[in-house]
Amino acid sequence: MSNIHNFGAGPAKLPSEVFDELEEELVNFNGTGISLMETSHRSATYIKLNAEIQDVVRRLLNVPQNYKILFLQGGGQGQFAGVPLNLMSRTGTADYVITGIWSVIAAREARKYGNVRFATPQQDSYVNIPDLSTWDLDPNASYVHICDNETIDGVEYDFIPNTNGVPLVADMCSNIMSKKFDITKFGAVYGCAQKNIGTAGVTMVIVREDLLNQAMPACPSVFDWTLTAKNNSILNTPPMQAIEVMGRVLKWIERNGKLEKMEELAVKKSSMIYDYIDQSNGFYYAPVEKRFRSKMNIPFRVGPPKGDVDLENQFIEDAEKQGLIQLRGHSLVGGIRVSVYNSVTVEDVEVLLRFMKEFFKQHA
Ligand code: PMP
Repeated sequence: MSNIHNFGAGPAKLPSEVFDELEEELVNFNGTGISLMETSHRSATYIKLNAEIQDVVRRLLNVPQNYKILFLQGGGQGQFAGVPLNLMSRTGTADYVITGIWSVIAAREARKYGNVRFATPQQDSYVNIPDLSTWDLDPNASYVHICDNETIDGVEYDFIPNTNGVPLVADMCSNIMSKKFDITKFGAVYGCAQKNIGTAGVTMVIVREDLLNQAMPACPSVFDWTLTAKNNSILNTPPMQAIEVMGRVLKWIERNGKLEKMEELAVKKSSMIYDYIDQSNGFYYAPVEKRFRSKMNIPFRVGPPKGDVDLENQFIEDAEKQGLIQLRGHSLVGGIRVSVYNSVTVEDVEVLLRFMKEFFKQHA
């Protein structure tokens, strides 16, 4: 397997150490003689694990006690509904900042539950975060929603917007645990696990306590943050194995330099790729403005700025032959996308760069 270099956008590569640990405990979890998949979610074993993993999240992100850490199901898109269902009833209206395809999808889902305003002008393509001074924020909004890292477009915030007291909610599906940030600037953040912190099945929500107790009456119980908090995320059967995988990844992050190190490596890995793209005389072309280039997902074109589809297909085919996989850009935008989540190593990136240089020599 070591000659495979997985740059998938999600589900994505997991650290090999985590697999070693999982293999060991798969059929005999912590000496219980049975797997976690066969264990009751009301057992002391799971109650302890649940608490342990919440503690790791709290330590890594420095989450204060007035924030609840919740483990839910339904993925990132589940929370596209979960956010309005839990937060929109206060005023019936919410502001969405549109910086890419995921924030559009989030806004569309939220529309089912109330009035959604776009706080930023419509754009033809997503290559930056519009300057905060141009945002049209409604002081009466129940919350302001942003997508901190647009996985498809490769646009990432490098600042936390000041929303003048209106709770800020962030989709961090594709960059949670990739950098240090001040969680107290947010009312809530959420992230699915299958990109940077584990496998599909569990979605983490971190929410400030004073925002609880206002879910819409129609909110399904399993999406109700208040009920989930009251039940310590054991309202119904949690995806325990996915939560355990997430816990293993989070402990791996903790052992390997915490978020400071993850951020340093994300900057290093992404810069190696962007710098080479920028030096390629336009053969490779990364459309996002430098300041807002994602440190997790790097979309680029091969050939002219809009891409030469045949050349891009060739790029993907040749890369796969060398074990460089899951490089195809999202079908909505095309091109190539390299994802360099925490578990992707500098060595993986070096192998990719050697391939990109060779491909340039053959085709430029
Ligand atoms: N938000 C972002 C930023 C994403 O990248 C994704 C998944 N690609 C989602 C939401 C949706 O996540 P899920 O597939 O878990 O619903």
